[in-house]
Amino acid sequence: MNDSFDMIVIGAGPAGEKAAAQAAFYGKRVAVVDRAASPGGSAVQSAGVPTKTLRETALYLTGFRRRDTYGLSLQLLPSLALERLLARTAEVIATRTASVQANLDRNRVQLLRGQARLGPGPSVIVRSEDGSERDPESIIGLDRIPRSMVVVGGGPVGCEYASVFTALGVEVTLLDLADRLLPFMDTEISDVLARAFVGMGMRLALGSGVGTVARVGGQLRVTLASGERLHPEKVLFAAGRAGSTEGLGLPEAGVKTDARGRIVVDETYRTTAEGIYAAGDVIGPPALASVSMEQGRVAATHAFGIAFKQTLDPLPPYGIYSIPEAAMVGMTEQAARAAGIDCEVGRGWFEHSPRAQIAGATEGLVKLVFRRDDRRLLGVHIVGEIAGELIHQGQGAIGAGEPIDTFIDRTFNLPTFSETYKYAAYDGLQRLEGKQP
Ligand SMILES: Cc1cc2nc3c(=O)[nH]c(=O)nc-3n(C[C@H](O)[C@H](O)[C@H](O)COP(=O)(O)OP(=O)(O)OC[C@H]3O[C@@H](n4cnc5c(N)ncnc54)[C@H](O)[C@@H]3O)c2cc1C
Repeated sequence: MNDSFDMIVIGAGPAGEKAAAQAAFYGKRVAVVDRAASPGGSAVQSAGVPTKTLRETALYLTGFRRRDTYGLSLQLLPSLALERLLARTAEVIATRTASVQANLDRNRVQLLRGQARLGPGPSVIVRSEDGSERDPESIIGLDRIPRSMVVVGGGPVGCEYASVFTALGVEVTLLDLADRLLPFMDTEISDVLARAFVGMGMRLALGSGVGTVARVGGQLRVTLASGERLHPEKVLFAAGRAGSTEGLGLPEAGVKTDARGRIVVDETYRTTAEGIYAAGDVIGPPALASVSMEQGRVAATHAFGIAFKQTLDPLPPYGIYSIPEAAMVGMTEQAARAAGIDCEVGRGWFEHSPRAQIAGATEGLVKLVFRRDDRRLLGVHIVGEIAGELIHQGQGAIGAGEPIDTFIDRTFNLPTFSETYKYAAYDGLQRLEGKQP
């Protein structure tokens, strides 16, 4: 079958869905091709949505958030827990898949199923799949909750899985070559997170190196660089991801990739081939669904010269959905100092927050990084309950070029976690005046 469209998008993940909807909203005839049985991409089908659902369900089923406050610790039968986790995850995936499909339908975007590659012209050649559904993936392929697990990789995905499985009662060891968790984040946030993990019962082996992972006599054996041997029931690798660009016919179409196979684009998301744009994980870091969506939208406006949303937000926040959560926006204290900026910090601790005390969630920190001369906010770093939500206030203030005084001048609802911003700002001012150690 031959058909023609103003735009054909390969991949119905966050980048593809939003690019398609953006172009269609402006009256373009758009099709999206995906080889998967359902739209949504890895974000909906196997990565972000399932892991976040796993996290929420684990917190709920184990009463983890409040177990110290009420002296309660729920012990679920492992088989029952897995059954509930899988059922809830399947439900949320179905709901999210339906939302993506509804967005495509609302915008009259045609969804085609099949394996796509670039053809001459430019054109897109779609090879239909045989129609068979792939087996639904269970949570990282588990058929039961293991007794013990080694997680390799202390990045966002490793931290998320390691803390969620610890909350579920699994004996977890988290390994990384680096000597701290989440090396791109402020060191203080990494440290608070590491303490929280250890407090939950996780073992951290940072900077220890991973020697080898082998299966010996049917048993997994992880040997650390120090020679120490671990015998976990499962090993989870969370040490890096790569965009899937093979089989797209990129070289033939004149689309240049870098040494890691990532598609090279300019600031308008145009590739080296006329009329071909790329967005999302295939172009490399930060490889977030949040940013991929924005890239998709911006790519679509450039592709058609639409005078709307022409640039990407230069200040995206990062959220890590571990237990506890962590989030950041802007410069870390280390980056600011390395850049030669005369900066100061202000800290607000959840332990002093009435809301955190009432909720029994007193482990947390809001850290502000700001310039000493005009007190302009440069970065916000948060660890603790709802960090991923709280970060947006910092994002707004940095984006508006505000000084930390903005938090002092505002009235916050009481009790709230947000109010911690005010005390972090007061702490910063006191430091400026030399009233804090
Ligand atoms: C465990 C985990 C947790 C994460 N958590 C978060 C989070 O909390 N927040 C966040 O912002 N990001 C998160 N991410 C990252 C996020 O999932 C990705 O950045 C996002 O999915 C990238 O979107 P995309 O559209 O580029 O690609 P994808 O979501 O991977 O979608 C690509 C789609 O293209 C299709 N496709 C590929 N090649 C072809 C082809 N040749 N023909 C037809 N179809 C094709 C695939 O089937 C797929 O549906 C997480 C990732 C992981 C692994």
